[in-house]
Amino acid sequence: MTLKIGIAGAGFSGAVIANELANAGHQITVYEPRQHIAGNCYSSRDDESNIMLHHFGPHIFHTDKAHIWQYVTQLSQFMPFTNRVKAMTQGQVYSLPINLHTINQFFKKQMSPTEAEQFLASQADSSIEEASNFEEQAHKLIGKQLYQAFFKDYTIKQWGRSPATLPASILKRLPVRFNYDDNYFNHPFQGMPIEGYTPLIEKLLAHPNIRLRLNSTFDASMKCDYDHVFFSGPLDAYFDFQLGRLPYRTLDFHKETHTGDYQGNAVVNYCDNRQAYTRISEHKHFTPWESHSHTVIFKEYSREASPEDLPYYPVRLSDDNSLLEQYIALAKQQKNITFVGRLGTYRYLDMDVTIDEALTASKLFLESLESHQTMPAFTA
Ligand SMILES: Cc1cc2nc3c(=O)[nH]c(=O)nc-3n(C[C@H](O)[C@H](O)[C@H](O)COP(=O)(O)OP(=O)(O)OC[C@H]3O[C@@H](n4cnc5c(N)ncnc54)[C@H](O)[C@@H]3O)c2cc1C
Repeated sequence: MTLKIGIAGAGFSGAVIANELANAGHQITVYEPRQHIAGNCYSSRDDESNIMLHHFGPHIFHTDKAHIWQYVTQLSQFMPFTNRVKAMTQGQVYSLPINLHTINQFFKKQMSPTEAEQFLASQADSSIEEASNFEEQAHKLIGKQLYQAFFKDYTIKQWGRSPATLPASILKRLPVRFNYDDNYFNHPFQGMPIEGYTPLIEKLLAHPNIRLRLNSTFDASMKCDYDHVFFSGPLDAYFDFQLGRLPYRTLDFHKETHTGDYQGNAVVNYCDNRQAYTRISEHKHFTPWESHSHTVIFKEYSREASPEDLPYYPVRLSDDNSLLEQYIALAKQQKNITFVGRLGTYRYLDMDVTIDEALTASKLFLESLESHQTMPAFTA
């Protein structure tokens, strides 16, 4: 039986589900309010410099899931890329994540891994048994000096909240490495699609069973036109914000074009409050196999999202999630709709997790048809 499926959103979530269900023979319509596909992973070449730009913030593909690496590398050639982030703080340049180099440089020492571990234990505040907030947890794990230099102001800039008001649970593990590994990500698979992310999504949507409607917003009144809907827009927007707005942080990107090399690295974080921006990304360094005489940088500023802004990061920093829980309860009362993706489930999701969850949602949907079970509102 061929079903009519409506999909809200042409990011990775929507495109993966559209492709899977189109391959299973269903008729798919994808709605996307923007004039382009690929959601927040949208990339395109700069008109002026021809540099590949990530318009909604720098995106580096990394995963520990072999099947997801296989999935994306079938859609595009990936070039090797290792994210090595630098940090500016207190007038010095350091390596991130905090590793042995950072620790030795910061404390002007030449310690071995074991010595550094013992040294850091001596810096940590052992009087704190049970940390009651993020700041105390940082004092307990790494001591005041590293916390002040690398976490305090950065957290305030990124989240607009004092770490003393955030739950301790945010900083679960020791955020340092006792070796010289400065690869930002721990995952075994990491790389950049040779022509950016947009062609991957294009390929997923290029199917005779998929109709794409750009500049088209899906709303709840359109659900009755479909046998089932997958919604990857904001959860609260689907319900017309009837219970209030779920809080988001938004980002402002200030673009500058220069000649030559601006900062010698793809990403530099600004950890103290000497600058209002959290980081500068220089996009030609994401394609080190290309050469460009000019360079494009983005200074990234974070602030609370107002209704007119694009929602970037869900603010799930409090132990109080009652508004989210009310929306989830409302969503679970709906029939024939599944909420997916970073906006539909109100979670920060990396691309690999997004794709994995979209594949799972598609599989569960096809299985639910065979077994005549009801497809749930959430599958992740
Ligand atoms: C600044 C930043 C940097 C990131 N960097 C990385 C990184 O380096 N590596 C990594 O793995 N991940 C990164 N991510 C995460 C990555 O962006 C997400 O994994 C990915 O975008 C999730 O895809 P999605 O389809 O769920 O959401 P989106 O890409 O946001 O797509 C959702 C789409 O739904 C559309 N939509 C909204 N409302 C409606 C509606 N009513 N009807 C129809 N469509 C609607 C939106 O316009 C959007 O196109 C980063 C995220 C941010 C914010």
